[in-house]
Amino acid sequence: MAFDVDLFVIGGGSGGVRAARMAAATGAKVALAEESRMGGTCVIRGCVPKKLMVFASSFREMPGEARAYGWDIPDGSFDWGAFRGKLHAELDRLEGVYRRLLEGSGVVVHSQRARLVAAHEVELADGQRISARHILIATGGRPERPDLPNAHLGLVSDDIFLLERLPTSILIVGGGFIACEMACILNGLGVQVTQFYRGAQILRGFDDEARGLVAEAMRAQGIDLHLGTNIVAMAEAEAMAGAARGGEAGHAAALLPKGGAKGAPVWVKATNGYLGVEIGRRGEIKVDAYSQTGVPSVFAIGDVTDRVNLTPVAIREGMAFTRTVFEGQPTPVDHDLIPMAVFTQPELGTVGLTEEAARERGPIEVYATSFKPMRSSFAGEPARVLMKLIVCAETRRVLGCHIVAPEAGEMIQLAAIAVKMGATKEDFDRTVAVHPTMAEELVTMRAPVRRA
Ligand code: NDP
Repeated sequence: MAFDVDLFVIGGGSGGVRAARMAAATGAKVALAEESRMGGTCVIRGCVPKKLMVFASSFREMPGEARAYGWDIPDGSFDWGAFRGKLHAELDRLEGVYRRLLEGSGVVVHSQRARLVAAHEVELADGQRISARHILIATGGRPERPDLPNAHLGLVSDDIFLLERLPTSILIVGGGFIACEMACILNGLGVQVTQFYRGAQILRGFDDEARGLVAEAMRAQGIDLHLGTNIVAMAEAEAMAGAARGGEAGHAAALLPKGGAKGAPVWVKATNGYLGVEIGRRGEIKVDAYSQTGVPSVFAIGDVTDRVNLTPVAIREGMAFTRTVFEGQPTPVDHDLIPMAVFTQPELGTVGLTEEAARERGPIEVYATSFKPMRSSFAGEPARVLMKLIVCAETRRVLGCHIVAPEAGEMIQLAAIAVKMGATKEDFDRTVAVHPTMAEELVTMRAPVRRA
């Protein structure tokens, strides 16, 4: 049977764009539909604008630190309007880069919504139907408001980048990646931040010692963090000020947690019922290790599959899909030992097992040190960092590495290579320290702080 295209990709985010370009490079005829801006969550309303806001907010501490080092400089003030203009100009530039890369590799772009209507067919918003040998769903995730009265009054993370003015105060609900990163960013930009998290400690799933140190640092910076606390409803004006402690009516805003995978069924619901693509409890599309759904011609990658919701993972899944389907090399996606960073201040970088998870699996040794780094110690600041290794007592392999420090994201990327290669504690010890650095502690910790 002749198809209009070899591959139709639904979604122009990091995963979809990479898969489309790689497939086109093999000579395949490829089309891609994106109803919103090219680049998806990462480029338009996620990693990229977030990281630029991290940079912007980090300057707040610098005048004070510089004065401690002998500079005679005053505190400055932050101009959100000036930053926001530059931010959106940069996002426009990056969106253009993505679009040019796609078009340059021969992918036909449809700037409209597409939906799957049959195993080999998609329908565009304008009614056009396109047949495809393979269809890749890479529609990503989207924020989901919690089910509580007047939840529409709150902001979700996407809204932050579009604010005309920064609020004077904000209540952030949740304790995950976005909640903690945004708490630190907005606090750094001068917003009075209150954070409610329903659990016992923020950043559930990360190493307990590491997340405890991040919480301590966030409080020390002035974030009013309340654990075991949640909201049950939202209301406008005065009542809202009550809910958002310290908020001022008209100025306070509440940032709501983003939910999980987010309503994927709309993409795969055909008029005559489901096509055989299995949808999970959280709305995610179920796939196998090759990102293939129950319908052999339909694949799905990235956040819509709710496996590990990170940009580089979606890209890997897209590359594995292309190798499998277009290059004849069946390639399962490797989700083991994925390093990640939470861009709080200080950052949390992590790879492998937490101490808590490792304990469950067998005997371990824990090597950890928490100290005031040279830079902040000299400036008289209280900030501490953490370097921690979890080691298997039997094989001596480093099972996990957890770093809380400025630039921990940069450090964990490199440590992750060793951990992924199966390095032992002795391999770390054989490596000569780079002195004076914070990360040198990773290769100089001699005795375990505990065995478990
Ligand atoms: P997370 O799962 O990290 O956090 C969600 C938070 O919201 C949790 O603290 C959760 O609490 C809380 N929550 C969920 N529902 C409710 C509710 N009804 N009432 C109160 N609290 C609630 O997801 P995020 O939305 O922060 O981020 C989405 C994904 O995006 C992340 O999982 C990550 O994969 C990715 N991401 C990665 C970043 C990075 O790499 N630096 C940055 C930002 C996002 P509880 O813990 O109790 O469930």
